[in-house]
Amino acid sequence: MKEIILKKGKEESLQRFHPWVFSGAIARVPSGIEKGEWVEVRAADGTLLGRGHYQIGSIAVRMLTFGSQPAGADLYEERLLNAFRLRQALGLIRPDNDCFRLVHGEGDFLPGLVVDIYGDTAVMQAHSPGMHRERSAIADALVGLPDAKIRNVYYKSETTLPFMARLDPQNGYLIGRYDGNIALENGLQFNIDWLKGQKTGFFLDQRDNRALLERYAAGREVLNMFCYTGGFSVYALRGGARRVVSVDSSSKAIALTEANVELNFPQGAPHEAVATDAFKYLDNLKEGEFDLIVLDPPAFAKHKSALRNGLVGYRRLNAKAFERIRKGGILFTFSCSQVVSREAFRLAVFSAAVQSGRKVRILHQLTQPADHPVDIAHPEGEYLKGLVLYVE
Ligand code: SAH
Repeated sequence: MKEIILKKGKEESLQRFHPWVFSGAIARVPSGIEKGEWVEVRAADGTLLGRGHYQIGSIAVRMLTFGSQPAGADLYEERLLNAFRLRQALGLIRPDNDCFRLVHGEGDFLPGLVVDIYGDTAVMQAHSPGMHRERSAIADALVGLPDAKIRNVYYKSETTLPFMARLDPQNGYLIGRYDGNIALENGLQFNIDWLKGQKTGFFLDQRDNRALLERYAAGREVLNMFCYTGGFSVYALRGGARRVVSVDSSSKAIALTEANVELNFPQGAPHEAVATDAFKYLDNLKEGEFDLIVLDPPAFAKHKSALRNGLVGYRRLNAKAFERIRKGGILFTFSCSQVVSREAFRLAVFSAAVQSGRKVRILHQLTQPADHPVDIAHPEGEYLKGLVLYVE
């Protein structure tokens, strides 16, 4: 294994098990090193700090082991089994729930890797050249997992690998084949389009928050903005909502939402779906038409450089919802931007409340579910935050 030597004093974060080595911390990169290759990382005095995957970029190494812990051939098997046992312990593998996130990158000690399970299919995304390079070994380890019953592994990394790495990955099955695509979440059915859909085809990270919304839905008129597959809408309908309107700018998302409502309520449901821009829809909305509104937009700030504009976006969007929601209404509002902190998001929502002159109380503070764990040494793994608000 080639060796990366750090600059003096740059070993501290690794000694605290933070899994990233930034390029600025490196004194010497060996010649001939390939993107994604395994490397040993050593302190300036030669002490072995651990082993990981090398790549070109601001994050130069993603660590998989620390200290002298070996990086054996069974590393993926062991980590995946550990991840699977955790999901079992979380109670996510049940007859009425067969979709969950099996691997959440650093949160499962597999930096650069995401694996979502839909029934017997694993959808795998590499976010690092290292995981791309290791994709077959990982796919083999996935189907070999005892009790997991994974038969197909779909590799979907065309948009997740750093463009600069020029790896040109092809989406496709590494193992198995297309084999039906209906997944069960808390007893509800969803068509999951991992071939063409966003991310791995479904936003598993809102499962718990959708279940919470179900508890508030009875008798309410619900507006689900940025609905994508209609997850919140289907839960609201099961919860007894009087009426649900789903909005998304993508007509494909609207078709998916309609199909999912039809799948769960074949005898019909008080639901309509509208393909339009969320901001425009809110502008044209009659005041007081809805008493439960969900705002789950895409990340408004994908990088630190976009933080300021992103926060303005959250404030504007939430202000529109506050201005339109019925008295006594409930607002579920989210941000999935990793660079927007919990405090910054809350402040943006607070500014929106002030701007609209409504009296607002926080009922719940939401986050990502337990199958998206955060390694305490790697706080960057936390990204989803939400507030449930009572608006008077
Ligand atoms: N709430 C969804 C996930 C939302 S993903 C769930 O629980 O699964 C974000 C969605 O916002 C995408 O489907 C995207 O098409 C949509 N979107 C992006 N910009 C939009 C806009 N300006 N108006 C309406 N929808 C938009």
